[in-house]
Amino acid sequence: MIVRAGILYDGTMDAPRRNVDITIEGTRIASVQNAADGGSPDLTAACVTPGLVNAHVHVEMNGQPDTMGALAQMPQNDRLLHAVETVRKGLNAGVTTVRDLGSSAGIAIALRDAINGGLIVGPRMRACGNVLCMTGGHGWFIGRAIDSPWEARKGVREQLWAGADCIKMMATGGVLTKGAVPGNAQLLPEELVAGIDEAHRHGLRVASHAIGTEGIKNALRAGIDSIEHGHMLDDEAIELFKQRGTYLVPTLTAPTCILEHLEDGTQPQFVLDKARVVNEAMLVNIRRAYEAGVKIAGGSDAGTPFNFHENYAYEVELMHTLLGMSPQRALHAATAVAAELIGLHRGIVAAGEPADLLAVAADAGADVRALRDVRAVLKDGQIVHRAG
Ligand SMILES: [Zn+2]
Repeated sequence: MIVRAGILYDGTMDAPRRNVDITIEGTRIASVQNAADGGSPDLTAACVTPGLVNAHVHVEMNGQPDTMGALAQMPQNDRLLHAVETVRKGLNAGVTTVRDLGSSAGIAIALRDAINGGLIVGPRMRACGNVLCMTGGHGWFIGRAIDSPWEARKGVREQLWAGADCIKMMATGGVLTKGAVPGNAQLLPEELVAGIDEAHRHGLRVASHAIGTEGIKNALRAGIDSIEHGHMLDDEAIELFKQRGTYLVPTLTAPTCILEHLEDGTQPQFVLDKARVVNEAMLVNIRRAYEAGVKIAGGSDAGTPFNFHENYAYEVELMHTLLGMSPQRALHAATAVAAELIGLHRGIVAAGEPADLLAVAADAGADVRALRDVRAVLKDGQIVHRAG
């Protein structure tokens, strides 16, 4: 198959190329060459990018206004069926790779395996299983409580046994759990060190939910691979990120979507109160981290209130508008950098890479909102969605 691109952003920061043919053989890209030297295209689009990579999603959450309430009421089978639907919607919007950072009852792991086995259509996936949190701590409703370094090791082993291919640890409180204070540290440094060591011994990368300053630095010093949210980071944290090459996944969409629906009366008051505080810190600190040279990987926390899986383009837009990234830089963060963090493929359009492509109707480098006008989505060389 040949896909002809009016303009191609290949996921790197190289200058975009015009009028190119992407030749696909089987599931992979065979070549990228000037259209003049190519054949007759099977698909033509104004602009082509790599399939988008969302490094932070929750497949069993679908943007319900009250996450904890919804999960408490929804039977497990229903949650699994919703997960099938949410990843399909995301895929149709161009999200061809996701990392699930917390689900209950092995839902995300089962979904990943069903997709890989060809049973259902969905994105390339990694899944962490349950999050590892302190007793009653943030995320307990999708979590496994650990209250000592040895339990941290056991928690990691359990997730590995259940089929997890990454690990998530909760270093601070968060917005969506009643009673958990985002600024407060939760898992202890010793628990983080033990869990991270155990995961790394088995080749699994570890993400840490961390909003408060102390918890962010606890996780960075413990050797975490990525900080999720990171909204209350300080100068010392920025230095630690840079020294260690740790990724920051800022999930800008998450507080933004909660606050856009402040007046609806649909979200619990504790969520609104906490989101306000977190958002204020986010608007100041994440831009500073980006400007200081911290590696930013795209991830939206899709599934949180009004933060729909099919709306990942919004995260790319916010990296442009809130952080001051160029559209191409934001696209780079939401493809190649996020893919590097997840570690399944390179997230770029190049010979030898999986043929995961997003074709849109206008130049996304000129106006990043073009990512919303999806013409076609390819995963593994198959057209999985075509508009109209
Ligand atoms: Zn999350």
